[in-house]
Amino acid sequence: MPKNLSKIAKTKKIKYFLISFVDLFGVLRSKLVPAQAISEMQKDGAGFAGFATWLDMTPADSDMFGVPDPDSLIQLPWNKEIGWLASDLYMDGKPVKASPRIMLKEQIKKLSQKKLQMKSGVECEYFLISEDGHSLADKRDIQSKPCYDQSALMRRYDLIKEICDCMLEMGWKPYQNDHEDANGQFEMNWDYSDSLITADRHVFFKFMVKSLAEKHGLRATFMPKPFSNLTGNGCHAHVSVWNGKINKFLDNKDQLGLSKLAYNFLGGIMNNTQALSAFFNPTINSYRRINAPPTKSGATWSPSSISYTGNNRTHMIRIPDKGRFELRLMDGSANPYLLQAGIIAAGLEGINKKLNPGKPLHCNMYEDYKKYPKLKKLPNDINQAISMLQNSKALLKAFGTDVIKSYIKLKNSEIKNFKARNVFNKRKPVSQWEKDNTLDC
Ligand SMILES: [Mg+2]
Repeated sequence: MPKNLSKIAKTKKIKYFLISFVDLFGVLRSKLVPAQAISEMQKDGAGFAGFATWLDMTPADSDMFGVPDPDSLIQLPWNKEIGWLASDLYMDGKPVKASPRIMLKEQIKKLSQKKLQMKSGVECEYFLISEDGHSLADKRDIQSKPCYDQSALMRRYDLIKEICDCMLEMGWKPYQNDHEDANGQFEMNWDYSDSLITADRHVFFKFMVKSLAEKHGLRATFMPKPFSNLTGNGCHAHVSVWNGKINKFLDNKDQLGLSKLAYNFLGGIMNNTQALSAFFNPTINSYRRINAPPTKSGATWSPSSISYTGNNRTHMIRIPDKGRFELRLMDGSANPYLLQAGIIAAGLEGINKKLNPGKPLHCNMYEDYKKYPKLKKLPNDINQAISMLQNSKALLKAFGTDVIKSYIKLKNSEIKNFKARNVFNKRKPVSQWEKDNTLDC
């Protein structure tokens, strides 16, 4: 029996529900529904006009319904009257295939047919900036190596503590908070979980950080590269694949602690990385972060070539510990559902075709990249990423041609809008268009 939201509302004194969904551009959209109407909505969903969002629909299409997933319910720790719900989109009684949460669920289903489950954790970096987006909020945060700076961290204690308290209350098991490598940049970590739970939490985390920052008179941004001279906002993912309580990525006898299955999965990721950049680095601004010139701190901490290694942060994939790997390609604008869906789709191809990722490299890739001219490079801008997605047989097959077509159509319309008045140049300052369209990503 699914949880009865109406009963839960009475017990937990929830007055309103936010029935939400994320569109293909990662925008979180909702209806605020009074608790007395939640029974109907739990059955039929909340109605939306799909064309009004970033989904490939027309004004003539039928209403789209967001059917809430009761398991995703979160009572806002900072406003207990409100219950937040992730929903799955339906139209004319069928799931909307080109919608991110459905796309992820489809990949999860395929993986589960092999009796496998992906677990993941995400590291969402963000900046605290001024309301207008022009400068950092903390004028004193100017060190050239500000990573882990205690004073700058503690000047934001009230906000960081409030966010961390919320995570503790929600049972996410947060374990550390720090000032990151760019001035004004922070990261907060919580425990890994099933990929759908992590995706829902990722969506909620961004909403929570932005909301609480506003409450403290600040603005939080997950934009990949809001300041061209500073390290960008990454969104690294730690990945492992399980069968029940057994980590199928773990092999204690292997030098890096990974199983054959893990190497095949890795092979799939490396084989599809260029095309996956369209999901992992989906904005025009994303490409200021990868293949980027060194930042003020000395390193971009983001990859440019497709390679993997042991515990070494200069490669795209790091194996920091036995039984998992860290994919360092994604940035703060990545759609939380497509991020997870892309990993599973590529990993599945690797498993099915027993792909070999080759030997790990143990060099400092930031300095030694010239010694490896044959390594595949990451796309240099969004156009390249989109055309690689368009030509990716594996991803067209994994998601369906129509779904990928819808995504590309919308992305191309966005690129056209940008190009009408701008030229992308990562050596020039961040454009106003990028700020207007990405600061609140
Ligand atoms: Mg980090």
